[in-house]
Amino acid sequence: MEGKTQDYLSRPVIEVRNYINGRFVELTEEERKDALDVYSPATGAVIARVPRSTSKQVDEAVRAAKAAFKAWSALSERERADYLEKISKRIAEKLEELADIESYDTGKPLNLARTVDIPRARDNFAFFAGQIRHDFTEAHSNAGSGPLASLNYTHRSPVGVAGLITPWNLPLYLLSWKVAPAIGCGNTVVAKPSELTPLTANALAEICNEIGLPPGVFNVVHGTGASAGQALVAHKDVPLISFTGGTATGAIVNSTAAPLFKKVSLELGGKNATVIFDDVNLDEIMPSIVRSAFANQGQVCLCGSRILVHEKIYETFVEKFAQAVKTTLIPGDPRTSNFGAVISADHMKKVLSYIELAKQEGGTIVCGGKRADLPQPFKNGYFIEPTVVTGLATDSRCAQEEVFGPFVTVHPFKDEAQALEICNSTRYGLAGSLWTNDLKRGHRFAQQWETGMVWVNTWLLRDLRVPFGGVKDSGFGREGGRYAFEFWTNQKNVCIKL
Ligand code: NDP
Repeated sequence: MEGKTQDYLSRPVIEVRNYINGRFVELTEEERKDALDVYSPATGAVIARVPRSTSKQVDEAVRAAKAAFKAWSALSERERADYLEKISKRIAEKLEELADIESYDTGKPLNLARTVDIPRARDNFAFFAGQIRHDFTEAHSNAGSGPLASLNYTHRSPVGVAGLITPWNLPLYLLSWKVAPAIGCGNTVVAKPSELTPLTANALAEICNEIGLPPGVFNVVHGTGASAGQALVAHKDVPLISFTGGTATGAIVNSTAAPLFKKVSLELGGKNATVIFDDVNLDEIMPSIVRSAFANQGQVCLCGSRILVHEKIYETFVEKFAQAVKTTLIPGDPRTSNFGAVISADHMKKVLSYIELAKQEGGTIVCGGKRADLPQPFKNGYFIEPTVVTGLATDSRCAQEEVFGPFVTVHPFKDEAQALEICNSTRYGLAGSLWTNDLKRGHRFAQQWETGMVWVNTWLLRDLRVPFGGVKDSGFGREGGRYAFEFWTNQKNVCIKL
């Protein structure tokens, strides 16, 4: 343990560089001075510094991506799929190293990075390699010899330079989810990762170099969203924007991109519900409910942060749930514990402010409710006890606004109709899970739920072939499987008169 503690404190501060046209760009003395500090969520110490890029660096990256586009888009699907497979294999070979970097940068449990984040990044590249190889296009034939006799077929072409903007909660997982289909379809990419978690984007850049991806196909520009991110979205030579982040930022991104007629995909915030009917075996489902509420300290866009429980089992549920949370989720060193830190001091303040708000709104804190007090070197880390609140109205701010942290509200409902009404009462519509032994009810409920994704008797079980995305203020556009290709390519119809 002591050795590990040392390890945290003895790592040198990493100088993060932009990756443009196949090389890591040396910072000037001025840029070095102006670089942004990156903090370890676990210790609060500075662990890296990232360049504060502006439209100048974004423009350099876009020019590199534009120059690479012609040759890259001219490759066959098979050739591009080979590159994706090589990236996937290299991620697999470096799994432990990447998991370590991801946990260090985000404060998430190492075991989570090792079993979820990095394997998914590996799988994203492997999956889209297969998808590109096996994809087919539609053809519509009007038979006969009359005036309508024709053959129509859909030709898909890459769009150009794609601007990818990703958040801090699943840095490599979400970046790979965009990069793989983007370049697989023949686009070239400029990525702007969150300034809070820049490290695995650069690790991916190293992998691209190692496997010989042509320079300019994948570029990374670091910096703030307001400067580098905005410049990327506004750039005239970037016709494609894939953004994952908060709803307020998504609105800014969309208002910049819309007048420029860019293709935009927005994966935004959520306030997902978990609905539990009275016909379930609570002991059996409890581990899944705890995980769905608190995975990655509640910082997964798909986490269920409002738990709705049938009134018949409500009291029992609250008791068992609080007990399970208290006894199984113990904040601590992310390398050894199953409950890490939240991403930043600001985010910790935000989550703690919702705990205060919950008290003001009349809620009862049944477990957690404060910053976790850990020994050195984690004393200044951003740890919050997993917090469960009951007694709040379903239209209270705590039950309506996205908190995106280890903060969950629990509410009783009397019947299916009321549960559905509560589910649909927020501005968001990303995902939800429903727990019942009555599959007809599960099906019926899912049909009427205003959300992009529904799980019945499971959570986060993802088949990469299915569409991913939200409705309402959770965004628009679908990424995943063949649905991704609608976004990452332009479709052209070719009509041949027969
Ligand atoms: P933000 O919206 O703050 O940031 C997301 C990204 O956008 C970051 O890279 C950020 O850069 C950048 N950005 C900020 N301002 C601009 C701008 N004006 N133009 C372009 N880019 C900009 O989200 P968070 O990073 O805080 O992530 C958490 C949010 O992401 C939550 O709301 C969560 O629900 C959502 N999310 C949604 C998912 C989904 O699939 N629907 C999945 C995961 C998360 P920087 O941080 O460097 O300022």
